[in-house]
Amino acid sequence: MKLLITGGAGFIGSAVARLAMEEGCHVVVLDALTYAACPANLAPVEGLPGYAFERADIRDRTLLERIFARHRPDAVLHLAAESHVDRSIDGPDAFIDTNITGTFYLLEAARSHWQARGRPAGFRFLQVSTDEVWGSLGPEGQFSEDSPQAPNSPYAASKSAADQLVRAWGATYGLPVLITNCSNNYGPYHFPEKLIPLTILQALAGKPIPVYGDGAQVRDWLYVEDHARALLTVLRRGEPGRRYAIGGTGEVSNLELVQKICALLDDRRPRALPHATLITHVPDRPGHDRRYAIDATRIRQELGWTPSVSLDQGLAHTVDWFLANPGWWRVLQARGGLGQRLGLGPAA
Ligand code: NAD
Repeated sequence: MKLLITGGAGFIGSAVARLAMEEGCHVVVLDALTYAACPANLAPVEGLPGYAFERADIRDRTLLERIFARHRPDAVLHLAAESHVDRSIDGPDAFIDTNITGTFYLLEAARSHWQARGRPAGFRFLQVSTDEVWGSLGPEGQFSEDSPQAPNSPYAASKSAADQLVRAWGATYGLPVLITNCSNNYGPYHFPEKLIPLTILQALAGKPIPVYGDGAQVRDWLYVEDHARALLTVLRRGEPGRRYAIGGTGEVSNLELVQKICALLDDRRPRALPHATLITHVPDRPGHDRRYAIDATRIRQELGWTPSVSLDQGLAHTVDWFLANPGWWRVLQARGGLGQRLGLGPAA
């Protein structure tokens, strides 16, 4: 099977590309290489037979058509997106352009490729989306595939709009589409502007660890390799037209999460004062959802997927990976621009 993976130079897309190659698929990564891309994430597959890379922007319709014609993929895994909520608050334009218009162009390119090949029944277009499209939960309950969409951030709204386009291309044109909505991912190669790597790197530098508001916002966390496995499972066995909610069983408040990371670092890199003394509460961000939780019954029961890594195991592995790979994150830190909304300035 030949997969076209958009956003494959990013955090999750590169995990999917590495796993798909391991499992014997042919992979074409399509990525515009924005600030969030890390081509080094693809080093393990670079040069392997069956792997190709295309530098392309999903907003370039003509180029997309040429890439489909050149590679003739059997499936598209669509991960290319502007993905950072903080950035979507300060500059929503790129989120609308890439996440909505870019998805529209990609759907059109996929549709004409699928039609030109005689509408093969096995073709798939998998839209990789987020639980943030469902908005915020109260203290009880969980999101499932049937929850109403109620996005609160420009990022979440743009992903929700893209999900609707994908759904419509399935209903109207018969394109075999699938949608997944996953909780927060973490793990090796996580871009250092996101909460977990940011916490690790601020703590290692002995700098303030910012936590929004009271830190009581609850998130469900899924180890990135479990998400990559879930995506390949949905691609192979999911039913076209269906949506799958994907989550770990890793519900924890942001403050508790940061404290867990500090405790791991106290163990591995002891300092005079515990790392948790670096925690600094900063003003909450607008529209900040209070709680997300996922009911992943459908993917568990229908497709047999379950997470294999607990939050504690995954966090320990992630902290160890960042300690062992300073060369990877120092390059990204040196580019600057991380954590601006958190008041960290350009050299977080
Ligand atoms: P990321 O920011 O690490 O990677 C995104 C990739 O997309 C980058 O390599 C970037 O260069 C590329 N890209 C951006 N704009 C592009 C464009 N116009 N054309 C082509 N490529 C472009 O993101 P991620 O965390 O790996 O998330 C990947 C996908 O998964 C996103 O669609 C996101 O909404 C979704 N998702 C993420 C999470 C999470 O916790 N990170 C959870 C659920 C769903």
